[in-house]
Amino acid sequence: MREVLLRWEELLFLADPGIRVESAQEDGEVIRVGVRCRTAGSRCPGCGRCSGRLHGSYLRFPADLPVAGRRVVLRLRVRRFTGEDISCARRTFVAKVAGLTRRYSQRTERMRSALAEVGLALAGCAGARLADVFGA
Ligand SMILES: [Zn+2]
Repeated sequence: MREVLLRWEELLFLADPGIRVESAQEDGEVIRVGVRCRTAGSRCPGCGRCSGRLHGSYLRFPADLPVAGRRVVLRLRVRRFTGEDISCARRTFVAKVAGLTRRYSQRTERMRSALAEVGLALAGCAGARLADVFGA
């Protein structure tokens, strides 16, 4: 089973060492991929200090680019850290997953940029129809 998950890691994330695929499940026309961040620590966006004190984690479900015409939904577990600097206004912060998502986004970066390109090239209804055709 781990071998199959490693193939998903290579396929979806180019074997990024910061990301681990934990599950992959076909659910009709949707492929659900369980992903976890491996970061041991992160830099506070407020004060810039690094912290490895894990506060907790939570799930996000960003939509990713389709694979073989099937929608891909990531089940992404992100890690929240407690800041080291007690004078910093931010008590906790979430580790960024570089290149995968951005704050509050419900799409991966590659999905967002693909849709932006379609929107710029075709605009309006034509772009929406094309995105529908390729499952985005
Ligand atoms: Zn801070």
